[in-house]
Amino acid sequence: MRVCPPEAEAGAAAPRPGLPSFSTTWSSPSIDLVLGLSGLAYSGGKTLRRPPVARNGAPRPPPRQRADRFEVAGVLMDVAAKRNTAAKSAIETALYDAVGRSLGVPASLLLGGMVKYRIPVLWTLAPGDPGQEIEEAEGKLSARLHRSFKVKIGAQDPAADLARLRRLAGALGDRADLIVDANQAWDEITAARCLPALADLGIRLVEQPLPAWNVAGMARLRDRSNVPLMADESVFSAHDMLAVASAAAADVVSLKLVKHGGLLNTRNVAAVAEAAGIGLYGGCLLESSIGAAAQAEMMT
Ligand SMILES: [Mg+2]
Repeated sequence: MRVCPPEAEAGAAAPRPGLPSFSTTWSSPSIDLVLGLSGLAYSGGKTLRRPPVARNGAPRPPPRQRADRFEVAGVLMDVAAKRNTAAKSAIETALYDAVGRSLGVPASLLLGGMVKYRIPVLWTLAPGDPGQEIEEAEGKLSARLHRSFKVKIGAQDPAADLARLRRLAGALGDRADLIVDANQAWDEITAARCLPALADLGIRLVEQPLPAWNVAGMARLRDRSNVPLMADESVFSAHDMLAVASAAAADVVSLKLVKHGGLLNTRNVAAVAEAAGIGLYGGCLLESSIGAAAQAEMMT
């Protein structure tokens, strides 16, 4: 993150008094802000591609834009680079943060205002060892921190995962809710064989059992499954969400800022899902506290 000198560039649009303007530095996921304001950003470590060069071979300096034009910023980033959603999310998060700070309001207000003051938060169990996972879950339950747990499956043989889940469900009983995330690990035949067993264990939700491309397969599974299905890697964009909704391939979608490319794109995906009656779930990766804070602003 760098802060620009306060001098205005020739021909640049003047920022609104009290608000920063920005220009992007294309060699890294960073952002320059004038008026001495800087925003916080989380980056997944990806970079935007370099800009086109001028006729004399010198890199063109990026134009300076008003920082409160979030939609314009998104369009400019999409023109400059395809995908790179983590970097775009970092830049957009910084813009919301800087504008929010300059106005003295939270980012959620810039998105239309809070609609929820509390959201339930679950804990992920990923060690793969059921004894260790039961101990971890018991710790969260006794501390009254979490009563819902997501179990990462798919790294082991399906039979081993089912045995592991049987131990977890038996030990935690009605004191906890369990969902599972297969991270695209199964083919359709394996998933069709495992879903009834997951339903018998009381698993509340199965996330992305099939590869991201197999939306039709997700729809076929959902048609005969007693457990609701959640789409994660199948949905990056609002177009993906429309395809999943059209195929009736999911009951829930996992929303992530770094997957969708920022707050506005996440809101667009959520709007398509809500129009189709598909539930919203706030997922996350291993973000910093800054990234988690931005996700919380989005989900509230
Ligand atoms: Mg997932």
